[in-house]
Amino acid sequence: MMPTNNKKYVQVLVDINKLGTKTFSYLIPNNLRNEIKIGQAVSIPFGRRKQSLKAYVVGFNDYLEEGIKAKEIDEIIESEPLFSLEYLNLLSWVSTYYFCDIQSVLNIALPQKFFEKNVKKYRKPKIKSKLDEIEKTDSTTSLSPAQKKVYDEIKKVNAPTSLLYGITGSGKTEIYFKLIEDTIKQGKNVLFLAPEIALVSQLTIRTIKRFSKDKVAIWHSSISEAKKYETWQKLRNNEIKILFGARSAVFAPIQNLGLIIIDEEHDQSYKQTMPNPRYNAKDVAKKLVELYGAKLVLGSATPSIESYYEAINSNSLFVLKERYNNAHLPKVVVIDMKEERAQKNYTPFSKTLIKNVDETIENGHQVIFLINRRGFATYTQCMECGEILYCKKCAIPLIYHSQDDSYKCHYCNFELHNPKCPKCASTAFEHFGLGVQKVETMAKSVFSKYKIARLDSDSLTKKNEHIEILEDFQKGNIDILIGTQMIAKGLDNKNVTLVGVINADLSFNLPDYRSSERGFSLLTQVAGRSGRGENEGKVIFQTYNCENVFLKNAQEQNFEDFYENEIELRQMLDYPPFSKMIRIILSSKNELRAQKSASEIEFALCDYLKKLSLDEEILLLGPSPCVINKIKEEYRFNILIKNKLGFNGHKTILRFLKSIKLPDDIKMVVDIDPSDIL
Ligand code: ADP
Ligand code: ZN
Ligand code: ZN
Repeated sequence: MMPTNNKKYVQVLVDINKLGTKTFSYLIPNNLRNEIKIGQAVSIPFGRRKQSLKAYVVGFNDYLEEGIKAKEIDEIIESEPLFSLEYLNLLSWVSTYYFCDIQSVLNIALPQKFFEKNVKKYRKPKIKSKLDEIEKTDSTTSLSPAQKKVYDEIKKVNAPTSLLYGITGSGKTEIYFKLIEDTIKQGKNVLFLAPEIALVSQLTIRTIKRFSKDKVAIWHSSISEAKKYETWQKLRNNEIKILFGARSAVFAPIQNLGLIIIDEEHDQSYKQTMPNPRYNAKDVAKKLVELYGAKLVLGSATPSIESYYEAINSNSLFVLKERYNNAHLPKVVVIDMKEERAQKNYTPFSKTLIKNVDETIENGHQVIFLINRRGFATYTQCMECGEILYCKKCAIPLIYHSQDDSYKCHYCNFELHNPKCPKCASTAFEHFGLGVQKVETMAKSVFSKYKIARLDSDSLTKKNEHIEILEDFQKGNIDILIGTQMIAKGLDNKNVTLVGVINADLSFNLPDYRSSERGFSLLTQVAGRSGRGENEGKVIFQTYNCENVFLKNAQEQNFEDFYENEIELRQMLDYPPFSKMIRIILSSKNELRAQKSASEIEFALCDYLKKLSLDEEILLLGPSPCVINKIKEEYRFNILIKNKLGFNGHKTILRFLKSIKLPDDIKMVVDIDPSDIL
């Protein structure tokens, strides 16, 4: 993709109706040869009818493959480039590292609307954003001695990436603000990532109150195309100083990048699981700071095992062990639900929890319930023959949703109304297990005196609804907020003094090597929502398994102990950070064929590694049926690769993957650094 001096052909990126973006080669007319640049919009004749389309310059060639005849481009329509060569280099790195074609990367990076012809005529977005109403109100605060110390250390560190491990409420955000201020003073710009849209909005509001709103912008998947277009232009013109966003904002074309902050860095939503590019924004950010000579600050109260390990080994770990103003960490009580059942309490709420809810609300404080499962129940069983309702296409039980009386598959969105038992045709079903909707329904009867609201991805039907629910909660109009993991993160409501985790075991029971890390982090994070103000907080974990060591670590909010236990396991089993993983999934409608092709690939890879004498450093697991062995009528088998040779090992494996030829009925997904192996 490097430009050459006497370039003859240009590669352009076009959006062809419904086919997505593709690159094509065109001849450069003599009169444009000195003007044409990477990132410019040009118009090209396309197809037999020579329809004129808008395209972007992404590269140059001196010759074409034999047999290809190129047409000439018509003209340059926007001479100011939409993106730079460095930017393309980043995208090209993403496509190589994540083993996907550059087009899929460009697809996610460049909003589709940019290809529309008269994009120039875009009206300014009319919908007034909530953010427009917020004004600068806060004066700058000064850091506490503990914060100041960490801030000074981060300023001094040489490593490009630092990890700020600060317990919940320790004042990490204040340190970010100080770093942002410094970066802006140096005339450089900041990218600030948070894992979820709700958190992005909250942080943006907090930042606007501190820094005023001009020069602040937001970028995530729910921002309108028109708004994105406007923001893109502003970024390009260096008019934005701080860009907030979720994972995809890592592809926004920020000029003059000085600092990237990734808050809640442990969060799995930084990794795109599908479709391609299956990138991790954290790793793309590392590449970005390398390209720009900028700094990356990762922050979390429960760092990922990998980031913590890396930080220790590169002397870039910075720790805040106390809450700001020495507020106490909340006290965590574990309740054995087996005993509740023995005493004939069949509700999801233990007596201790009920008593504490009453006390908390009578004192004028607020409560959070966490139940980390969407929907109403876990599974539905026929009352005549015992059959369990499964998705027809996936090996997954259907989940009943009370709000629209439907049965949904959480993998393929298949939906069923008024089902009949597939075995005996009965229509009598019972719903077992607890989902957030059932907890809401039951809470409304047990706690009928109080105002109760629910926040999860199914309750977000209207745009901005999450902001409204959160605002209502912030204003004190809601006594009990019930939610899935969405409410565990970032919420800073000083009036919350009780958090009840309805079923703490849910988080630990997935057959995945990251399951305890996730469980520990979720419980610690949600506990951290309690007692953030002057009043002491309390947390109640309800469990059927009091013996769980990780639950005990979470109860004590002891990350170090958790880390020591976990890192030992990872080392023993060669999991990250002691290896980099690649997961290959082979799928087909025909189960035997999927299995056969997985075996063949595994065999060939094994052979390839043996010949290179790398079979001790690059380990293979499988092939085996995936934990979820069927999705959308396709049977799935996977091979796991644990590469202990770093980037060189990675390149070797990619070379092998490139050589694979598959029959038409077999699909292959390559997931680099997978976030789960389900
Ligand atoms: P974290 O991000 O680590 O959870 P926050 O930055 O949200 O913590 O800080 C917790 C609370 O303490 C917030 O309400 C914040 O306003 C307050 N706080 C933290 N540091 C300071 C400071 N230096 N001056 C005033 N208030 C602070
Ligand atoms: Zn039946
Ligand atoms: Zn399904």
